[in-house]
Amino acid sequence: MDFKPLHKLYFNAKIGAFSRVTAREDYDSQITLTDIEADIVIDHFGIENIHVGGVKEDKAKSQKMFLLYPSLKPIYLNLNFPKPDKPELRLYLAATRGFRPVAGQIWFIYRNNENNLVIGALNENIWNNIDQQDNDDNYYQNTIEKTIIAKEKLQVSAEGKIATATLGSRLIYVRNPLLAVMRFQLSDYKCEINPNHKTFTAETTKMPYVEAHHFIPIKFQGIIKEPLDNLHNIVSLCPNCHRGIHHAVIDHKLDLIEKIYKKRQEIHSYHFDYIAELYNCIKIPNL
Ligand SMILES: [Zn+2]
Ligand SMILES: [Zn+2]
Repeated sequence: MDFKPLHKLYFNAKIGAFSRVTAREDYDSQITLTDIEADIVIDHFGIENIHVGGVKEDKAKSQKMFLLYPSLKPIYLNLNFPKPDKPELRLYLAATRGFRPVAGQIWFIYRNNENNLVIGALNENIWNNIDQQDNDDNYYQNTIEKTIIAKEKLQVSAEGKIATATLGSRLIYVRNPLLAVMRFQLSDYKCEINPNHKTFTAETTKMPYVEAHHFIPIKFQGIIKEPLDNLHNIVSLCPNCHRGIHHAVIDHKLDLIEKIYKKRQEIHSYHFDYIAELYNCIKIPNL
């Protein structure tokens, strides 16, 4: 499968592909590159530089350099078209050379922004959870809490705006707490997945405890032109649903985002499948 926007952003990749290592590939210690995987590799090395025939016939030409994820240290793997009459591009796996994924793992290959070819493998549960953490969430929820306590007047445009700031050493997209409080008031401090979801009264605000979540996560602002920090994109969630939308198994996550999607006509310019991909809800087929 080809890299989705989520993967490109996470890996700093221009183009990439991933698939599950099959039992056969594991047994044979080799992967046959198909479709986009082959395209990326051929495009990178140049078809004339890929050896046709057995590895032993031309060891130098068969050996290719890849950067290994996550260290990005160079490794050398054999790559060839073993049969002159068949366009089957084959990559040989070898623990001694640093790359030996096993059956069931997700292996991936991508060209990064520096035009290097990076290869790696992760367990499927780790792969499915890529980039689902919101690292600045505590900070964001705290600023909302302070805004509720301060009882600030909600003079803010519902359409929001795009603004950046530095948090520590990182550049982040700003999330205005006033908009979140506006959303909490509209939802009556209830969970928008289901207003009957249980929460508790927060000591600091003496209000029902809910959390604000950006339905199209704010980290995608770089690829979306309208401001993501806008009232329509902010959802009020009970803590259980909020953790779930970040960390649950794919089916549960899909259920949560579908419920929100149905409620928010304003975001329907984005296809549901596109949003599901942003949440890494991607079912990888067995080949
Ligand atoms: Zn969130
Ligand atoms: Zn809930």
